[in-house]
Amino acid sequence: MDIKSIVSYRLPDYEGKRLKDPHVVIVGAGASIAACNKDKNGRAVPLLKNIHEVLGLTDELKKYNFSEEQMADFEKLFSDIYEKKQYKALQKKLEYKICEYFGKLVIPDEPTLYDYLILSLTEKDAIISFNWDPFLMQAYRRNMNVGNLPELIFPHGNSGVGICNKCRVKGYANCICPHCYGDLEQMPLLYPIGKKDYSGISVIKNEWERAKFVLSKAAGITVYGYGAPVTDIEAVELMKTANNISQMKDIAPFTIINLAENEKEQREKWLDFYDVRMMMYCNSFEETILWRNPRVSLETLFDAILQQQPRSEEKSFKKFSSLGELQEFTKTITEFDMCI
Ligand SMILES: [Zn+2]
Repeated sequence: MDIKSIVSYRLPDYEGKRLKDPHVVIVGAGASIAACNKDKNGRAVPLLKNIHEVLGLTDELKKYNFSEEQMADFEKLFSDIYEKKQYKALQKKLEYKICEYFGKLVIPDEPTLYDYLILSLTEKDAIISFNWDPFLMQAYRRNMNVGNLPELIFPHGNSGVGICNKCRVKGYANCICPHCYGDLEQMPLLYPIGKKDYSGISVIKNEWERAKFVLSKAAGITVYGYGAPVTDIEAVELMKTANNISQMKDIAPFTIINLAENEKEQREKWLDFYDVRMMMYCNSFEETILWRNPRVSLETLFDAILQQQPRSEEKSFKKFSSLGELQEFTKTITEFDMCI
């Protein structure tokens, strides 16, 4: 009897011995902080809640008589002033300063957790980032020589991405379009407002569609440093819909990487998304299956639980002191193509 007819969930999709379903990693601010707390030039990566301090906008906000309490919740504050006539100048100033600040951030030379994250996945996989900082794009660019890298999706826009609306091309910020040779425009950033209307910006709409598509196929999900604030209703809704379509909750690993003190809240927040037997709560990226079995995280897990044929863990990541060493090591991992 075919096993597919006796189980209630979808089984992973294989082509020969090669897994086709993606491992999808969702990253939030906590991941950027863990990867690059300070950029190459010592600039801090702001969390949204302290963004006005890092950007030097505290005095500007005080002019509008915002209290300390209001300023401590930037997402709410921005939602409240958004498209209100009396705050038009303030809104423009905040948007300009945010984009300018993020656009100047540069990834440090040494290997960061974003390099490890990108190199732990392959081209069937995807990273959905809700962050504006350009570190993930910069990490992708400098690891391109390794090849077979995951898709990057930015539903809130990203300061490291340039777009050509005419050719519908997405590339690196401040570069030229490979088709028409015109300058790429800065990808718009989607600001935290209560009800986001992302459908009006075609490039952003496309990112949401891609995110939904990869999540609906996901055979493994990792949520890295993403708090899913209340202003991100759409993101959570999107994940719920996609998760239902995927129908793999019973066997798909769901990993949360977050601080120990957030465990209770995080476990509850994502309760709809996992089967308790397939859930792993990690305090660092180094504890995950992506670190232990880079590039073959799901293959390794499914071989163990479905085929009862565990793979070795010989090729786990370790701390490398240079990016070159990390890349050379990654190139030796070819088991995603291997028949065992
Ligand atoms: Zn173009």
